[in-house]
Amino acid sequence: MAEEPTYDVIIIGGGAAGLAASIYSVRAMLKTLVIERQAIGGQILYTGEVENYPGFPEPIAGPDLAMLYEKQATRFGVEFVYDTITRLELDGPVKKLIGEEGEYTAKAVIITSGGEHNKLEVPGEDEFAGRGVSYCATCDGNFFRDQDVTVVGGGDAAMDEGLYLTRMASSVTVVHRREELRASKILQQRAFDNPKMSFVWNSAIKEIKGDGDVKSIVLENLKTGEISEQDTNGVFVYIGFHPINEFMIGAVNLDAAGHVVTDIQMNTSVPGVFAAGDVRTFSERQLANAVGDGVAAALSAYRYITEG
Ligand code: NAP
Repeated sequence: MAEEPTYDVIIIGGGAAGLAASIYSVRAMLKTLVIERQAIGGQILYTGEVENYPGFPEPIAGPDLAMLYEKQATRFGVEFVYDTITRLELDGPVKKLIGEEGEYTAKAVIITSGGEHNKLEVPGEDEFAGRGVSYCATCDGNFFRDQDVTVVGGGDAAMDEGLYLTRMASSVTVVHRREELRASKILQQRAFDNPKMSFVWNSAIKEIKGDGDVKSIVLENLKTGEISEQDTNGVFVYIGFHPINEFMIGAVNLDAAGHVVTDIQMNTSVPGVFAAGDVRTFSERQLANAVGDGVAAALSAYRYITEG
């Protein structure tokens, strides 16, 4: 007789998509486990303020919203485990997840492993990580009170976090590789209007230098090739991110960029396995979309379990 799985649904990743999926799954009377490798909340833990999520007319701090999601999931009976999943065995009706700490089985799996910040990959970045180089303004901004900091990138994250840093830093210099920002117009306007923010266009950081802590950056003007050095106390890197997918390579179909291929009901290439949020192909990478994806994945998992 086939082994009976421990859970109806296991969700890999405790970010917004995973928590939304867990709430819908457990409320459908499915025994539900969320496996998270670091901290419940995912990307919103690194977001100073969320102000575009419907239902919150006043901005809410990302970590506060994460706590609300966790509280809601816990209230309905979602179980949580901290572990890093390293391998998936998805053939057949019992799906097995192999983690560093244990093995888990379920009838259906929802992958919401999200993504990680890209790194600059320049000399000094690793050496000064935690000593001036950061990927999280919300976590580290306070160390830069009345200091001069640099933000790298031209997207929403760079503008959001750069604006957050203007509250404590003396100045925030944005280094961007083009002369036009990718960020939404409202964030662009706020950044341009903020007297503490300035911009270095068409430029890339070639090296981060220091003496114990970050002291300066070496910049290359990508149009003229000119090299210059600029003093700074901190470098906050926001140049996009990549999906966390190592554990599922070979187990589900991925696109060329490593995102899980899904249809609009969040079905992956494997029956009974669903993916939602930033890890899936064509994700809008917005909080509300991650939540919506998670809900769709949970409903699909429910149909898979109850209807076969
Ligand atoms: P993103 O939108 O992909 O922007 C990445 C930025 O980094 C771009 O400006 C890009 O330059 C630059 N970049 C990429 N690789 C680089 C490299 N190797 N060296 C230097 N610069 C590099 O990423 P994101 O800002 O992290 O945002 C991710 C998603 O989350 C987006 O969909 C965004 O809308 C969403 N988000 C939304 C909010 C919000 O709504 N408030 C906040 C945060 C994030 P180019 O422009 O030249 O490509």
